Amino acid sequence: ELRIENLWKEYGDQIVLENVSLTVPSRAFVALVGPSGCGKSTFLRMLLGQERPTRGRILLDGELLPAQPGADRGVVFQRYSVFPHLTVLGNVLLGKELSGARYMAKLFGAARRNAIAEAQQLIGEVGLAGAEDKYPAQLSGGMQQRLALAQALIMKPKVMLLDEPFGALDPGIRAEIHILMKRLWHETQMTVVMVTHDMREAFTLASRVVAFERRRDRPEEKLRYGATITKDISIWPPRQAGS
Ligand code: ATP
Ligand code: MG
Repeated sequence: ELRIENLWKEYGDQIVLENVSLTVPSRAFVALVGPSGCGKSTFLRMLLGQERPTRGRILLDGELLPAQPGADRGVVFQRYSVFPHLTVLGNVLLGKELSGARYMAKLFGAARRNAIAEAQQLIGEVGLAGAEDKYPAQLSGGMQQRLALAQALIMKPKVMLLDEPFGALDPGIRAEIHILMKRLWHETQMTVVMVTHDMREAFTLASRVVAFERRRDRPEEKLRYGATITKDISIWPPRQAGS
């Protein structure tokens, strides 16, 4: 369970997030929507541990989130998630190293073969079999995002954080990767928090849609400009009638 309690984020005298509280049960898929600049990426960076909240706290399975990005959280951004100087296989293996595994350079024999086999299996699962030795520049945008997913998945993250991961893809490719994303979510135990601009994507993929909105109730007070949760819609499991 991911628990966000009374989270505030300020840059100087600008409030970006104002008192955001949210509990995401394990295995839920939350889509986070909201207007540009309302603080979605900032929120995700705090979940990742790249940014510290001004106030409030974040707990993962009852424990305070470490201040550093860790193996328990995988991440995919809209672009630049993968390393251009590494091959597909190299990128996935790097994901494993980032998750705290031994460096490939120090692995020999069976341990090395096992690590490569594990990476190759994931490469197959995301639909990139045969592309192991290609470099990201030789891949389409959709393939690069599949690679980014494999790189994050090999960490076996408890939580997968996605910041508009499919935003730059054209609609046909996006539909294909949606099917993949849904399958990966069902097959793994991971909790997903995905930022998106695309409402259809949010409602197709997520079990819950959360909306951020900038508060404009007291515009005369500069300090009352933080965004907070304005809508929280559970899609699955559906709400019981009368509850
Ligand atoms: P978009 O949908 O366009 O990606 P967003 O909801 O992800 O927008 P953020 O990138 O989180 O929005 O930015 C929220 C606000 O915080 C913006 O006003 C932005 O200028 C400000 N901001 C973000 N990062 C910083 C920073 N490092 N220093 C100062 N201000 C920042
Ligand atoms: Mg953003």
